[in-house]
Amino acid sequence: MTIRDRYAPSPTGLQHIGGIRTALFNYLFARSKGGRFILRLEDTDRTRYDEVFVKNLYDTFSWLGIHWDEGPDVGGSSAPYIQSERFGLYKKYALELVEKGRAYYCFCSAERLDKIRAEREAAHSSESGYDRYCRDIPPAEAAARALAGEAYTIRLKIPLGETTKFRDQLLGDIEWKNDDVSPDPVLLKSDGFPTYHLANIVDDHLMEITHVLRAQEWLSSTPMHVILYKAFGWEHPVFCHLPMVMGQDGKKLSKRHGATSIDEFRRHGYLPEALLNYVALLGASYEEGREIYTPEELAERFSLDKLNKAPAIFDYKKLEWYNGQYIRMKSDEELAALALPYSIAAGLFGEAGTEPGAEQRSKFIAAMPLIKERLVFLHEAAEKLRYLFGEPAIPAAEEFIPKKADLAQAIRLLKLGRELVKPLAESNDEEAEAIIKAAAEKADVKLGDLLMPLRVAITGSRVSPPLFGSLRILGTERALARVDAALSGLGAT
Ligand code: GLU
Repeated sequence: MTIRDRYAPSPTGLQHIGGIRTALFNYLFARSKGGRFILRLEDTDRTRYDEVFVKNLYDTFSWLGIHWDEGPDVGGSSAPYIQSERFGLYKKYALELVEKGRAYYCFCSAERLDKIRAEREAAHSSESGYDRYCRDIPPAEAAARALAGEAYTIRLKIPLGETTKFRDQLLGDIEWKNDDVSPDPVLLKSDGFPTYHLANIVDDHLMEITHVLRAQEWLSSTPMHVILYKAFGWEHPVFCHLPMVMGQDGKKLSKRHGATSIDEFRRHGYLPEALLNYVALLGASYEEGREIYTPEELAERFSLDKLNKAPAIFDYKKLEWYNGQYIRMKSDEELAALALPYSIAAGLFGEAGTEPGAEQRSKFIAAMPLIKERLVFLHEAAEKLRYLFGEPAIPAAEEFIPKKADLAQAIRLLKLGRELVKPLAESNDEEAEAIIKAAAEKADVKLGDLLMPLRVAITGSRVSPPLFGSLRILGTERALARVDAALSGLGAT
């Protein structure tokens, strides 16, 4: 049997952490079993539908590098994969259930339903849902009324007094009293469109879905889905409801905790690899003590029995750590290409939006080793490298003065440093290290004290990317000009 699973989002919102976790687990599960991963758009809710969300879905997954084997954009043997393009077929299935006595026509108007709701509210009744008013209309009479043009919906006839049982791959055996299942939910709306439940089940069946891996909030719908499968006489797929994703406070992850939409993470300078790697660990464990995995390695290791029952806690700090790790794995060219758009937007090469010239571009690439180890987000590159692309303001005099020293000493150290600019700019790190050490010894000053005023003059700050590399990129001439400007700022003669 070929494993077939699917991600079935409703395009009523932006893709968020929970959604991509569901998609990723389905993707990994299909990969791990040599199966097929399918994308199906469940756009039955036309009031909340927006084209923007469909575009966001495609953009998100192409950025993440997750590809489906079958879907609206790639086709497949079960096409079409968009429910609005399948609307014609659901009615037939709803009528089939009416025919079998497992569903019935309901002629209740929206006003009637509103009225019962209001009455119950007024009476503080705990009852909710449909009152099964049309359940016992004799089928022939109901069919005649429908045929005569009376508006109707079709409702599932939940068999009362029974218990529905199914096995969840993660949660084990689940039992649900039918009397506690939503009372006779609508399958087909009065406009002839299916509800989510009908379309979801019919499509999972027609698309030969073998496994449904989905968020735990769907668990309460599953008994009703199982009843539907039975009503059709179909076997239901294996269900596996994935562990919840919570914030650090143990509440369901939401905007209150921070970014949740993938767009936000992307804008913020996260790498797709980092996000994928971290999300793959939300509710699953692979190898003890190992944290970094490529998608292929995850697919090799993924299995449903590695899922955790306990909710997964989303840790933003951990995700940042992953991002840093993946940044370090990039070559200088790759990292430059990734960080460039953020740096252009931040105005590193002129006004915001200015593209770099050829020289600036190669300087940008050459500067990557200076920041690679320190970057957590791609957008930080611009701030960290600004001193290389424009002249930094000369800091106040006290910034140049090492601990326990005075201005005269700082000037002396900077003058000493000035002598070293050319040899340092022309050396590699190792040579530069030796040069500065020897100079400090000769002048009988601390190494750090010799470096500090020079660093401030060159980078405009006491804390900066590595000085030697900065000197090499700036070149002797520009570096000397900065030292001279600093010296004159300090009043040195
Ligand atoms: N359309 C549902 C959603 O938005 C699908 C639930 C399921 O996977 O069955 O999540």
